[in-house]
Amino acid sequence: MKVTQAEYEELIETLRDHDHRYYVDCKPVISDYEYDQLIKKLEAIEAHHPNWIVPSSPTQRVDEGESRGFKQAEHLAPMLSLQNTYSLEEIQDFIDRVKKLTQLTHPTFSLELKIDGVAIAVRYKKGFLIQAITRGDGKKGDDVTQNVKTIPTLPMNLKEKDIPDLLEVRGEVYLSKSDFLLMNEQRQEEGLEPWANPRNACAGSLKLLDAKEVYKRHLNLITYQVSYGYEVPFQSEVHPYLKKHHFPILDPKFLKKAHSLKDIEDYIHFVSKSRHDLAFDIDGIVIKFDDTKYYETMGMTGKSPRWAVAYKFAPEQAITKVLGITIQVGRTGVLTPVAELEPVFLAGSTISRASLHNEEEVERKDIRVGDTVFIEKAGEIIPQVVKVELDQRPKHSEKWTMPKNCPYCDTRVVKIKGEVAVRCPNNLECPAQGMRRLTFFVAKGAMDIEHLGEKVVEKLFESKMVQRPSDFYKLTKEDLLGLPGFKEKSAQNLYDSIQESKKRSLDRFILGLGIPHVGAQSAYLLAQRLGSLKNFLEVDKESLLKIDGIGEKTADAIVCFLKSSLHKEDILSLIEAGVEPAVEKKIASYDHLFFSKTFCLTGTLTKYTRQEASDLIHQRGGVVVNSVTKKTDYLLAGDEAGSKLEKAKVAGVKIVDEDWFEKNL
Ligand code: NAD
Repeated sequence: MKVTQAEYEELIETLRDHDHRYYVDCKPVISDYEYDQLIKKLEAIEAHHPNWIVPSSPTQRVDEGESRGFKQAEHLAPMLSLQNTYSLEEIQDFIDRVKKLTQLTHPTFSLELKIDGVAIAVRYKKGFLIQAITRGDGKKGDDVTQNVKTIPTLPMNLKEKDIPDLLEVRGEVYLSKSDFLLMNEQRQEEGLEPWANPRNACAGSLKLLDAKEVYKRHLNLITYQVSYGYEVPFQSEVHPYLKKHHFPILDPKFLKKAHSLKDIEDYIHFVSKSRHDLAFDIDGIVIKFDDTKYYETMGMTGKSPRWAVAYKFAPEQAITKVLGITIQVGRTGVLTPVAELEPVFLAGSTISRASLHNEEEVERKDIRVGDTVFIEKAGEIIPQVVKVELDQRPKHSEKWTMPKNCPYCDTRVVKIKGEVAVRCPNNLECPAQGMRRLTFFVAKGAMDIEHLGEKVVEKLFESKMVQRPSDFYKLTKEDLLGLPGFKEKSAQNLYDSIQESKKRSLDRFILGLGIPHVGAQSAYLLAQRLGSLKNFLEVDKESLLKIDGIGEKTADAIVCFLKSSLHKEDILSLIEAGVEPAVEKKIASYDHLFFSKTFCLTGTLTKYTRQEASDLIHQRGGVVVNSVTKKTDYLLAGDEAGSKLEKAKVAGVKIVDEDWFEKNL
């Protein structure tokens, strides 16, 4: 291998730059596969020139960098990475190495999914959660305890009898594919850069400084290791142990044992077939030697233990051509360039379009009409253009630029300072925005009107039968029969679904209005606190700001929306057409003490888990928020209450204990 030492050092610099973009900024510019190929190259150079190896080489240490705003905390035991491979031959090498190191002729392996998230260590003292730390440099990481506490499935205290004094559990924080899709959609509407994949969205969310914001991101957790306090004799026994203590673990159907390469191949085959149905993203499988008593003597190489290896799935890619770049205009006017592709089959479906996100993304990748491109599915769901084959670029191809006017209503587009998005400001008359608002109104999280997909909405919109949400409710069955492709049964089904949606809850109705910055969580808070559509229509900024969880930006957007006579008129037409959104009935009546009150929970509750206490509050019409503000009504404080207690005292928030809570249930 002919490489100079200077080239070796340059490769390290390149990789460290990618590390920073990936771990600190959460915005990688190359795929994991490309990164891993660079690492392989580095490993090969180091194998030839061991005397060149520097301790700062990415093969020698984990380094996620420090995030601003978090305290650093030491790990109880080093938090390592895993050796990676994309090849079955290298798995065989791993098996052979294990045999050599342990002198066993038939070693057993424990097989697990490799969740594509962010590694976390969660610590419990006398059964109470005290700290959650990211991997960092393996010795110390960011203390993200408050953020990790927003994960509903994470136990706050462990109730079983045999809890060690100090216990540390490790796992992966992740974001589900569906939450990733929703989050990106919302980011785009707000003019922000979308996340590249669920892993980056999760890492970015975990590093937010406001736990209330983190709460809205719906982070999740799967645990797979006990790193301190309890020694499991076999890795395959760790999952039942974790489950016994109510930690979330992988679905047991994905926990298998293997005795040979053939068993591992079968598992890979099984996982490859079912991975698309998983709620979260995985990037491979992890193969762990099962007998933990050998771990210490087996030791580690560089930054990975010798007893495990990760087999990663090479990204499924396809090559196709960009036939055109069109513009999609979202419900709040954001212009998104979309690559119209020569249809190609990729990971289970035919792809003919891929969002190019924004002008800067097209410029960075220099995607042009006529280009041959590689496409992949981000988070296994969203097709995206990863790279242009420059040698196949047609001569005289031209750089793509964002149109100056909205292609749907010809209004001059605008770019707001600090946003990546370009917007059409003609919110009221732009037909594309009108159409998007309609699809949003009928979508699943909102009015959830069955049989009313995008194509049908488009037909109704183009035939001018529906221009505003209230028009859906004026449609008769005969009108629907007039639509191309509609027959007696399909017209009746759609008609019934529309009628049935008249009783949707107030929070879904508010969400469906598509007010900028009002997502599902804010819509829920508004519905709970305002109690009726009438109150919502009359609400002013001052009252909105009194609602815990509604900030200045959202309050302004709501007031501005309700001020528009067109929006108000449409809401009134919806009411006239029989739409009756109401706050969902709770167990208790409106005069229950908890109704429309905001609770914040802190410390360790002994009679309920946090989830149980939150559910009880929700069922009685209350709302649970994650941090204390002046607007919070009650702080429910358990044992070892932390900084929230101090904050509540200063803010004059009523502090209650579990007995009070139980008595008033
Ligand atoms: P890794 O993600 O390849 O594997 C190790 C990690 O897997 C562990 O730390 C753990 O967090 C996780 N994991 C998930 N499920 C697990 C299970 N069941 N058991 C044990 N561990 C499990 O390694 P890494 O050190 O976290 O990150 C390096 C990787 O990150 C690279 O290989 C590359 O793919 C990616 N990366 C990409 C870029 C980029 O620019 N695209 C930059 C830096 C790193």
